[in-house]
Amino acid sequence: MSAVLRIGARTDVGRVRAGNEDSLLVSDDGRLIVVADGMGGHQGGEVASATAVATLRAEIEAGRSVEDAVVAANRAVLERADGDPKLRGMGTTVTSGIVDGSSLRIAHVGDSRAYLLRDSTLRQVTVDHSVVAELIAAGELTEEEALVDRRRSMITRALGIERNVAVDVITIDLRAGDRLLLCSDGLTTMLRDPAIRTILVDVTEPDDAAGALVAAANDAGGADNITVIVADVTVGEVTVTGDTAGEDRTPDDRHPTVTDAATPDVPTPEAAPRRRWWSRRAPS
Ligand code: MN
Repeated sequence: MSAVLRIGARTDVGRVRAGNEDSLLVSDDGRLIVVADGMGGHQGGEVASATAVATLRAEIEAGRSVEDAVVAANRAVLERADGDPKLRGMGTTVTSGIVDGSSLRIAHVGDSRAYLLRDSTLRQVTVDHSVVAELIAAGELTEEEALVDRRRSMITRALGIERNVAVDVITIDLRAGDRLLLCSDGLTTMLRDPAIRTILVDVTEPDDAAGALVAAANDAGGADNITVIVADVTVGEVTVTGDTAGEDRTPDDRHPTVTDAATPDVPTPEAAPRRRWWSRRAPS
């Protein structure tokens, strides 16, 4: 099978933030999907996520692998920040997937997420690079406690922070009927996985599902920018609807690899937990 994605995508400012620092990309051929969530004041977050997405697009078009494209995006964000004092300290998450034959290759840094809905079961495919995720993994915090923990927005990896970035790479063997979700934390801090699953199961069209997820996150408070890409795996013509990364939105570490279609939610091993944390929002 050569997989083709039918894609719906939305990005929304939410109900609290003044601006939208998230960026998304759906390539014209529907093979590349990217969500990036920027951080840093003075427009830095917007610039960081838009720079990452634009670099990813250019690198993929130039034939680079998705993990190499993320490494290049890291350098691009870093260089942009170095060149402008107002942008210093900016960074961004990135969760990107590219279709390669019947597989989806995901490259991931930060706490945006990729999910796979298969046979009505929702699995988080990526591991959050966040303080609370590390504490949960260490048994020091429960999922419930994490929801209200003051450290919940602190991430342990981002693009634009250091010259080298550890990129998680995950390969999923796609099946017709699979539904993929890429999203920023503005969705997952507002909606628990069961609520996300219900919407993904109930709403047939990818564009409608993307809209329903954003609406539900806003109904739950919309405390952050909300970005979602819903992609249905099929064979046929590419369909792209909803927001894409239009011009108006300006937009060596070992790479742990998880390749297992049956259990794509296997946690990616951390080589060495980082102790430096970055708050995703500038102190106000
Ligand atoms: Mn966010």
